[in-house]
Amino acid sequence: MNLLLCSLFREKKRRRVVELTEKMVVDGGSGRTCEWDGRWNHIKKFLERSGPFTHPDFEPSTESLQFMLETCKILVIGAGGLGCELLKDLALSGFRNIHVVDMDTIDVSNLNRQFLFRPTDVGRPKANVAADFVNNRIPGCYIILEFIYPSFIHLEFHIIVCGLDSIVARRWMNGMLLSLLVFEDGVLDPSSIIPLIDGGTEGFKGNARVILPGMTACIDCTLELYPPQINFPMCTIASMPRLPEHCIEYVRMLLWPKETPFGDGVVLDGDDPEHIQWVYQRSLERAADFNITGVTYRLTQGVVKRIIPAVASTNAVIAGKSAYIPLNNYMVFNDVDGLYTYTFEAERKENCSACSQVPLDLHFSPSSKLQEMLDHLTESASLQMKSPALTATVEGKNKTLYLQSVASIEQRTRPNLSKTLKELGLSDGQELAVADATTPQTMLFRLCFTS
Ligand SMILES: [Zn+2]
Repeated sequence: MNLLLCSLFREKKRRRVVELTEKMVVDGGSGRTCEWDGRWNHIKKFLERSGPFTHPDFEPSTESLQFMLETCKILVIGAGGLGCELLKDLALSGFRNIHVVDMDTIDVSNLNRQFLFRPTDVGRPKANVAADFVNNRIPGCYIILEFIYPSFIHLEFHIIVCGLDSIVARRWMNGMLLSLLVFEDGVLDPSSIIPLIDGGTEGFKGNARVILPGMTACIDCTLELYPPQINFPMCTIASMPRLPEHCIEYVRMLLWPKETPFGDGVVLDGDDPEHIQWVYQRSLERAADFNITGVTYRLTQGVVKRIIPAVASTNAVIAGKSAYIPLNNYMVFNDVDGLYTYTFEAERKENCSACSQVPLDLHFSPSSKLQEMLDHLTESASLQMKSPALTATVEGKNKTLYLQSVASIEQRTRPNLSKTLKELGLSDGQELAVADATTPQTMLFRLCFTS
């Protein structure tokens, strides 16, 4: 059924035993080149015979295992909750040439689920500790660290696996893989495709998807699937609370600035127990007024800090998803209430800003202000840019219309925001170049004037 899930459960069981006798097992580790009879028997069962779920093009052979053990080069992006599971699953499944990148360091709150880390590792880089752990535990596995994102591009990975919590980083990676595609006479050269397997979890929900850049739906094609941050309507918070969260938001947003319980200008700190205690008590009073139950200290802190609890089992399920017939191409998992999972085929978006190869049209009136265009780029559900920098060619010269990331240029171009497109010298059909943190490539747009 599921190659990686099997090894996952086996490892879960093993880990429990191993934890009791950990020192002995680690010290007894048997060198990198160690192989033993039957080591890969469970993997061979999948690779050397066919079954009801095998891909129609799959030919059972002994070469597949050799490819996994010796040739296949995998990049894992992220060594956090999903990343730990991914590295362990891949290493136990016979992948040995694994590279990992993660810029984060280990926090004590990671330890409940990021099981490659121990209390003594707090403060150390995640990628280093994860790589050391797996390399020591799984003979023959050799995980290599990657330090900066652009450096791995020339390394020619066979597969890239993402276990990230950042949408921007995902989109950036997606854009990078799209930029590597080679087209000959408009036809995509399949050998330039590097498959991207992307997983994501949030509490008890998760998803896994397979992206063949240039062929199947990319991250930006389905950008609308990422929900905007939940914000409760102000009128509900102020006058018609129904949920305990509404009461906490009321205290956080309205009472705190009004009553300034810890002095003028003191910002509510979600890590300060006294602050949370104050918000908690006030929220309880508010809840009592409206007959609402369920306000707790923990919920208060969760709402104030906008915590979405990370759940280890969700990470394990999402990381373990793999099948003979490649996932086509989007799997959803939800065990908030019972268990629910299904797969569907996400479709490519004809005018996807990342993978469609055609400049998107931007419709504005000549009297629209540049600020309106900027708002559209950041607020539109299909674009969701972070800090777009706009340039255009005006009267033969390259002109920066607005750029936020460099303070001096921001200051110089800020007045443009209140100018109209016409005043800026832009014309109908004009090409606009937009750079943003969500992609490594500059995106082209075509300005279409509406009357
Ligand atoms: Zn796309």
